[in-house]
Amino acid sequence: MATHDHSHAHDPAHEHEHEHEHEHEHEHEHSELDATELRVRALQSILTQKGYIDPAALDEIVDTYQTRIGPRNGARVVAKAWADPAFREWLERDASAAIASLGYTGRQGEHMVALFSTPQVHHMVVCTLCSCYPWPVLGLPPAWYKSAAYRSRAVRDPRGVLADFGVTLPPQQEIRVWDSTAEVRYLVIPQRPAGSEGLDEEQLAALVTRDAMIGTGLPATPPAR
Ligand code: FE
Repeated sequence: MATHDHSHAHDPAHEHEHEHEHEHEHEHEHSELDATELRVRALQSILTQKGYIDPAALDEIVDTYQTRIGPRNGARVVAKAWADPAFREWLERDASAAIASLGYTGRQGEHMVALFSTPQVHHMVVCTLCSCYPWPVLGLPPAWYKSAAYRSRAVRDPRGVLADFGVTLPPQQEIRVWDSTAEVRYLVIPQRPAGSEGLDEEQLAALVTRDAMIGTGLPATPPAR
């Protein structure tokens, strides 16, 4: 599956294929394996050949952190920010402490900043240099977040990137792109969706997608009641 053919890296035809559904097909498209990644790959091959590990089990563990445990932490932070004005205020003032109060601490989460999207400003996060990402609240970064295409286009053409993700914002809403190149890790607090008024925190958290907390997506629409 993984061809590491870099000749595709800047093929514009491939830049439009970042929809979530296609994530896995294109996972390796823009990858440039560094020394550590090559070592990991080599170790995995040897351990698999010797029968010590099952690649499917490894994938399962990675998937758990990438799509389940990780982003659910962030979703609880967002839901609490929507439901609890005092927590929201704390998050604005000292996101690291407010997030740590929910038990989400650790590497890549030491200096958190919460970005509150409003009808005037939509926040979106990128790491143009590498793939800095707030692990304690979002888990592992998705493959597209690390891709050269996302890292370069997010700054140059954020509206185009959002269109690729199926997101169209009102033209008057400014898109502010935050580059996590420093020690800071950003968490986007999206706008609370209309129709979510009666929901409790758990129901609110269920609306919060990983991409909504990166700014490449929006929260889900509440179920009609
Ligand atoms: Fe980075």
